[in-house]
Formats: sequence, C-alpha cells, structure tokens
Amino acid sequence: MDRIINDNKKNSTVMVTASGTYISSAHCDTAASRLSVLLAAKDICEVMSSLGWCGRGDKPREFPRNPPVICYDSPPAARVNHIHYDNLRLKALMGKRVVELTVPKKSAATWEMKEGDLCRITVIEGSQVADVNFWNLQNKQERFYSGKTRQLHATHLTVYDRLWSNLPYLRPMATVVADSLKNYGIDEDGASVHDVIGTRCDDYTYKLITGKERYGSCHTYLTEAVKKVGLTEQDVHDVWNIFMCTGFTKETHQYFTKSSPARKGDYIEFIADMDLLVAMSTCPQGDVSIPVGKPVPDENCHPLGVEVFQAIDETEAGEVSKETASSKPQTKEFNEQGHSQLSVASFPEN
Ligand SMILES: [Zn+2]
Repeated sequence: MDRIINDNKKNSTVMVTASGTYISSAHCDTAASRLSVLLAAKDICEVMSSLGWCGRGDKPREFPRNPPVICYDSPPAARVNHIHYDNLRLKALMGKRVVELTVPKKSAATWEMKEGDLCRITVIEGSQVADVNFWNLQNKQERFYSGKTRQLHATHLTVYDRLWSNLPYLRPMATVVADSLKNYGIDEDGASVHDVIGTRCDDYTYKLITGKERYGSCHTYLTEAVKKVGLTEQDVHDVWNIFMCTGFTKETHQYFTKSSPARKGDYIEFIADMDLLVAMSTCPQGDVSIPVGKPVPDENCHPLGVEVFQAIDETEAGEVSKETASSKPQTKEFNEQGHSQLSVASFPEN
C-alpha cells in the first residue's frame, strides 16, 4: 500500500509507494498543496506527468522515431528462381505418388522425402491446423529453425518462401511452391496464415494456464511420433504452423489466433531441398477458434491428408512412357522407393 505522510517541519508532503519509492513535494517546483491533492488521489501517473518529474528528478525521455529497416533484406539464397521451382513442382506432380497418408485428428505422423520430392498437405474434412517439424534425414542434428526463417522471410510463409535449418548449417530445407490460401494475405488485424511465430501447443503450458494436468498436445503427439523413428522429446522443435491464422495485436503486440480460414480442399505444397524427415501433428485445438485452456469440442478437430510426389528419373522416364499413355500423376502407387518409415501416433480423448 502507498503511504502519504505530511512533514510539517519541512512543509512538504511525501509518499512512500509500495515498492519503496520515496516521493517528496519538496523536490518539486510545484506547490505542495497540489502534490498533496494528487497523491491523495493516488494517481501517481498523473503526478508524474503533471509535474514533469519521474522520481529521479529526470524529465520524461523522448526517443527518436527512426524509420524501420528490413534487417535481412532478401539474401540471394532466400530468393528462389520461380520458374525453376514451378518446373520442379510440375515434374513431381507428373511423376509418381510415393507417400499417401492420413494423419488422424489429435495425432501425429512422420514421413520421409528425398531431395526434389513434393509434399502436399490437404484439408480433407474440416478446418484444421497442423504443426510441422523437419530434420535432415542423414543428420538429425540439422533441423528446422523457425526464428531465422521468420527473419529471412516473414512471420507467415507462402509461395517461394523457404524453410531454413539451424546453426551452424543454415541451409534451405524446403521451399513452398503452392498455397491455396495465399490470397488471404495480411488482414485488417495484421493476421495471416502459415506462421513461423507460434510454438507448438504443449501440456506444460496448458498446466501453467489452467493448473490442470493434460496428456494430449501437438508437442506430445510429435514426441510420440518421433520416438518411433529414434528421436526424443528434445528433438521436437518450434514448428511451422500451417493453415493457422495468427498475428500480434496492434496495441500490445500480444500473440493472437483466429479461426483458421482453411476449408475442405485447401492445401499447401513444398519441395524438399534436402533429404528430409518430416513430422506433423493435427492440433487438438482443431481450427483454433477456442483459446488454449478452454474445452475444445471434438467436432472442431479433423484429420489431414499427406501426399508425397516424386519426379520420374530421366533414365526411368523412357521406360514409363512406354507403359503409360497418360502422364497424369499416378494415384495407386504408394510408399515405394524406400519411403517405408511411416508412423502414426494416436491418442485417446483428453
Ligand atoms: Zn497444437
């Protein structure tokens, strides 16, 4: 509690704040009676601003407002040749489908990709967000670095943005080549989709917010999924939040979410720039229309579809062209070419 003391000997009024700050009207060039009135009202902010006094006798500081500077202004490696990646996409889609996987709601799965493979993740039922992790398939210490990706590109990724690996590697792991939500842009609240600003939801933060134990979050699902391919909880890292709509409030820069604008049929595609292990969880927040800590109806959660397409090798292409009259992507081939390490972690209801 603040204490107001009238010092008759010194003819001044002082206040000792709860934090121990000692404020005396004797230090001010304004009438003590005015200070007394203000202090009696206990509006210390008003006292400060009206007297131009901030406790140490300093005047309020004025800061220069410099213009923003783009700090990592599109290094060449972050700018891809659009035609090259459009061609890679076309070749992959006209090749063969080597992975086809449904990740059930409230679960996670892993799959592998070879350099040049294209992965398409599709909203196959209802609106649903997902958290995605990436590792170099040959060296799992090299993994996705969401913070540097954010600096090199933006808070939200779209077509021709790249996903970068951690230090000391700092290499492009994948490049986005298609995004059915790309025209969402940046809305009136500053929100956009497919962010690299949030982390994965986890049971530790859930307990921090609610005080309750829980087993069932993107972190948990991803952990269980990667354990099946020899990794641990410590290997799960900050994610790429696909289909998720997020931003920072204009006034306080607090992280916020919005219901995902993704609908059945929406998809995002990326091409692997190195051999990859990918893990993805279908978030138990579903479309994220309800904040963390409040109950999420089961009908808000949905599965997502995963497909990986692989371009046909040039030497192999001649053989295939004799066998197929059409060059449309093949739909029945699944899990060939060594893409056998698929695992799905499912969990019961919370
Ligand atoms: Zn989640």
